[in-house]
Parts: sequence; C-alpha cells; structure tokens
Amino acid sequence: MRANDIIIKKRDGDRLSEDEITFFIHGYSKDEIPDYQASALLMAVFLNGMDEEETFCLTKAMLTSGKVLDLGAVRRPKVDKHSTGGVGDKISLILAPAAAACGLAVPMTSGRGLGFTGGTLDKLESIPGFRVALSGDELISILGDVGFAMTGQTPQIAPADKKLYSLRDVTGTVESIPLITSSIMSKKLAEGVDGIVLDVKFGSGAFMKSRGDARALAESIVSVARRMGKQAAAILTSMDQPLGRAVGNSLEVIESIECLHGAGEPDLLELTAVLGSHMLLLGGIVQALPDGERLIRGKILNGEAFERFRASVKAQGGDVRAVDDPSRLPSASRKVDVAARGGGYISGIDTEAIGTAAVYLGAGRFTKEENVDPSCGMVIRRKYGEHVREGEPVATLHYNSSKNLDVAVDLVGGAFIFTDEEPPPFRLVHDVIK
Ligand code: URA
Repeated sequence: MRANDIIIKKRDGDRLSEDEITFFIHGYSKDEIPDYQASALLMAVFLNGMDEEETFCLTKAMLTSGKVLDLGAVRRPKVDKHSTGGVGDKISLILAPAAAACGLAVPMTSGRGLGFTGGTLDKLESIPGFRVALSGDELISILGDVGFAMTGQTPQIAPADKKLYSLRDVTGTVESIPLITSSIMSKKLAEGVDGIVLDVKFGSGAFMKSRGDARALAESIVSVARRMGKQAAAILTSMDQPLGRAVGNSLEVIESIECLHGAGEPDLLELTAVLGSHMLLLGGIVQALPDGERLIRGKILNGEAFERFRASVKAQGGDVRAVDDPSRLPSASRKVDVAARGGGYISGIDTEAIGTAAVYLGAGRFTKEENVDPSCGMVIRRKYGEHVREGEPVATLHYNSSKNLDVAVDLVGGAFIFTDEEPPPFRLVHDVIK
C-alpha cells in the first residue's frame, strides 16, 4: 500500500477501506508518512467527506494509534464532556469540578486552541506551574483524589489525533464532520469513560456555521459512540456570541474562578447546568435532568465546585495562590477599548471575528510552532440584546505587543451589528441528540 494512492483515491471522491485508513493513520503517527502527505489527505477528506463507515474506521484507527486507559480502579461513574470548539468557551473549567463534586469521575482530555477557537489546555497553562502533561497513572491517581483531572494527550492517548490536530489547525482543514468526529471521539474513547456528553456548537463562532451542519456533526459523533458501545448525548448550542465575557487564556481562567464563586455570567451557569445534568443522568447520579441542573448549580453556589478546582490545581502542580488571588495570574501590560461603530440594540456578533482578533492579540496560534501569550485577549463589554450608543466601548482588548493591534481593533469593531428594534431573546441551548 502507498500513501500517495490513498490520497489520490480520496481526492477522486472514492471511499477508503478500513485497511487503507488504518495504514495511513498508523503510518503517520509513527512518522513513516510525512506531514505533507497527511496534509494532502486531510484536504481531500475535507473536500470530499467520508461516510459513516469511513468515519468510524478513521476514529478506530486514531484510537488504536495509542492505548485505552484502564480506569477500572476508579469506582465512581466516569463521564466526560467535550465541546466542538468555541470562543470564550471556558465551560470545562467550571463543569468538571462541579460534576466531580456531584459524584462523577471526569477524566478530561482537552486540546489546545484550534483556529479561532480557544483550548482548555492553553487556558489551564496560564496558571503558573499547572502541568497538563499527566501520565496515565497520575491521571488515575488525581481522578481518585479530586474527582476530575484535566490533561493533554499523553503519548498513549490517540497520538495520531495529537499530530493531526495541530496539522489541521494550520492547513485549513478544521471544519470537517469526519475529521472533528474522529478527533474528538478517538480522545474520548481512549479515556475509558462510560459516557460522553458533547457540546456541539453552531453559529458564527463555531466550526459548523449552521444548525443543520451541527446536527449532522452531532449525529456523526453519537453514531460513532453507539458503535463503540458508549452512552452519549450531544447538545446543540449556539455560538453566535462569546460565552461569558472573557476571551483569552488567563482572562478566561479569572472569569471561571468568578463563576465558581457564584458570580458567573448567566450563560456560563446555564450551559454548565445543562451539560452537567446530562452528565449526571448518563452517570446514573440523577434520574431526571432538572434534578441534575439543581445539583450542579448547588455545588457551585455552596463552594464545593471551587474547592475541587483548587484541589486539582494543587494536584497538577499549579500555584494555588493564583486561584485564591487571580490578580496573580498573567496580565497584559496594555489595554484599549474598542468603540461601538453604531448605536442601538446589539442584534448579532460575528464571533469568529472576535476569536480571530484574540489570536491576533497573541491568545492563539497561526502556525504550529507559535506560543500563545497567556495574558492577551479581550473582555466583551456589551453582548447580544444590550443597548449601546455609538462610540461607547463594546470590548476592551488586553495586549503586550501592538504589532497586530490595528487588525484586532478592526475585527472587533466590525463584529457588532446594531438594530433599532430590540432583537428576540438569545437562545443558547437548542436540541439534544441521543
Ligand atoms: N475539538 C477536538 O478535539 N477536535 C476537533 O477537531 C474540534 C474540536
């Protein structure tokens, strides 16, 4: 078998067999197939797609490029959640400790920023000392002690995805249903969980712009989960405005800590409660979703979720003083307000433009090799449905270098749409696919 023939087959729109997919993916993860051939196959898959069977085989090949964690020693129900990627999406930082406080074990394997979306690992690394590279044994031990652990991919967990993920980030091949499905599910299945809740995002700040595409992604993910014998629920949620107000790594950690102290933005609490309730239902901790929502909110309000978060930071080598006093987290040397270019009600926010502006400020990467600046990003001062006057600040940018500041200011300034009429209420949570 030759990698080039497999690329040509997919380029010409043909189906790939399980053997071909496995040959390519395992070869790439062992460095036997170079990045340039993997980039070509990714683009061919992006353009021509994969059917359900190919997507399942791709996920399996990525999963078997590594090992499946044995979480048999962890006695609690093991349920994770994963988001398909958004802007200002810091839900994992709030939800994982809250779900752990409710009795679940949450072995969360997260990713780095991808395209204009942020990544949980980059956010966590803004906490001085926080180690996201846990060995399998460390993960199991922290999971037992704290109830959740947040880790990057160890060399054992879907190594093919780790390589492909950073290649996709810089080759224009992110927004593809088979590639997103296999990326997410290979990691989640490798965690050895009993159940998975997926936050499948759609809208201007998501990879799937339309609800229809997001539904197709959700169905693809749930189908792979079912064929792998796992319980799964996918929730379709809107990413037509940033979640919460902070976008950028340490700014999002600060906002998450505020939320864990009960002072979170309503959208953060709503989504945390909804996703958490599905996790608790899959894990058998509750029998009805409203009970799950109440339990999650209760663990945030009584401080138990914050205590779990603090314990996990300590267990993963982070400086807990920065959690107790977030002013110790990295902060940018300069700030500038972006003024509203019109007046009226905010009836739309180009959330991809907001995420891209954050990348320009240093919060994300344009090339594989770039480092993120943990302190950069922005705080959104005005959100959907709020009324503003022309010239009022709609966002405050945090930055250290003015190299790309003009581009970022322009993107953010142009991202807000104003109307005279008050728009209908924002709907965050849409359908559930099981
Ligand atoms: N999250 C992932 O882990 N992979 C993707 O492809 C998109 C979001």
